[in-house]
Amino acid sequence: MPELPEVETVVKGLRFLVGKKIKNILVTKPKLVSVGPEVLSPKRVHGHRQVREFVAALKGRRILKVARRAKLIIIELDEDWWLLVHLKMAGQLIIQKAKQKRLLVRLLNSPTAPLQALPGKHTHIVIEFSDGTKLFYNDIRIFGTWRAVKAKDLGKVDDLQGFGPEPLAKNFTPALLRSRLLKRPNLKIKQALTEQSLLAGVGNIYADETLFAAKIRPLRQVKKLQRQEWPKLYQALQKVLKKAILEHGSSVGDFIQTNGQPGNFGNFHKVYDRKNQPCRVCKTLIKRVTLGGRSAHFCPHCQR
Ligand SMILES: [Zn+2]
Repeated sequence: MPELPEVETVVKGLRFLVGKKIKNILVTKPKLVSVGPEVLSPKRVHGHRQVREFVAALKGRRILKVARRAKLIIIELDEDWWLLVHLKMAGQLIIQKAKQKRLLVRLLNSPTAPLQALPGKHTHIVIEFSDGTKLFYNDIRIFGTWRAVKAKDLGKVDDLQGFGPEPLAKNFTPALLRSRLLKRPNLKIKQALTEQSLLAGVGNIYADETLFAAKIRPLRQVKKLQRQEWPKLYQALQKVLKKAILEHGSSVGDFIQTNGQPGNFGNFHKVYDRKNQPCRVCKTLIKRVTLGGRSAHFCPHCQR
């Protein structure tokens, strides 16, 4: 599942669309789209009417701004309309520039994955812009959500409420990290880092990598962290997320950038998905443990 660095990478790519006008929208899976703040349109049963309303809301609109909150992509349009896109497990957004006649992409980050032309079998939404640019949305799982929301209804959007602070925001400090995670003192630190109501955007990959960088074991309880460990955890989180954004995210599974290229941060993973491989620092074998429905990877020598 895309985490903060992957969604941020997509948002940066989508900024290419700012100023462009939506000429047409093709939706082949009605369940992906809705009009209004709910993920499930009240008219979901009437698939085609829902698609018609969604297309009518967005057609002719111009893109003003692209932003992110937690893992939600927020696209501001003119006429007070907003488009909210959540990639969920496997959503991919790929831009074909006007001058590109045909776009060939590898939809899985594997050297054996075939190059495919778009739209493909799993392309369920295509937005065409008046300058000839196209935006393709692939979703092999069809879990993603696309909502057209009026500005006055933004306050009713669930995905915009109830999240913890953004770890890369200017006002995010070591003290804030500590006070947020200490709201659940009995959680394991790995679980706390990935709990979206405490902290926004961090999932399995970046929690594991952050804890390695901070030299803290994932199974320690939040309340057992020592005072001097908090600034280290904060620094590690900042460093890991910033580096991951610089490398365009991690292409674990089917994440790709809007230009169709994989993210490069997977090459820098120290522990995530490296069970029984030697630690890059001390050569001790990386361990994998399960906690709740998740797993955690760590180096038993480097992390305490
Ligand atoms: Zn080690």
